[in-house]
Amino acid sequence: MLNIALDGPVGAGKSTVADEVARRLGILHLDTGAMYRACGLEAARLADIQDEAAVSRLCEEGKLQVTVTYTDGVQHTFVGGRDVTGLIRTQEAGTAASCVSRYPAVRRMLVSAQQALAQTMPMLIDGRDIGTVVLKNAPVKVYLTAAPEARARRRLAQLQEKGEAPDFEAILAEVNARDWQDMHREADPLRCADDAVVVDSSDMTFEQTVEAILTLAKAAE
Ligand code: C5P
Repeated sequence: MLNIALDGPVGAGKSTVADEVARRLGILHLDTGAMYRACGLEAARLADIQDEAAVSRLCEEGKLQVTVTYTDGVQHTFVGGRDVTGLIRTQEAGTAASCVSRYPAVRRMLVSAQQALAQTMPMLIDGRDIGTVVLKNAPVKVYLTAAPEARARRRLAQLQEKGEAPDFEAILAEVNARDWQDMHREADPLRCADDAVVVDSSDMTFEQTVEAILTLAKAAE
């Protein structure tokens, strides 16, 4: 089964690169960040997300179960039976995801859902712990990164495109804070798997990054 594990820090462009690589390979892309976002949002609706015991209880009761479906190759993410695809791209959902993703009960629940999906079909899975935990035996593992300044610059450009006037230093501080939290949590911290290939996209275009990953995938076929 050609499963591809793609990990890396926030803002490295994983999601858009993953979409394009998966499309060109004719396989599905599982965005696991979307699953943590859905779980975080639902947890925040039902409890105080700083309360690990309460969130863990919700997991045990099955109230934070996340499922995904695909329509024309596009992922739809559900929690508690509701399609929350349109609600999870907010700052609030990102912060809630970062918070609940520290809890072992949440990680256990989502990791096993991801592993079950990966067994059914070839997929490109992107996240923070795919090469190290979810797909330890993936034939292709990529760690996509870029310098914090490059990632902050890209985020700045995205926000400017939306008509916002963001502050570069504030964005850089946010990128560094999220890196720190993802790399220093106890449960499955973000790190590069020993057998992953590092792709540093700081000075690469989108197309060059896509091509680099496609080359690795084709070499493993
Ligand atoms: O990738 P995205 O920014 O959507 O992920 C949101 C948050 O979910 C991350 O900051 C991280 O805390 C968490 N996450 C994780 N493990 C994954 C994917 C995302 O802990 N596999």
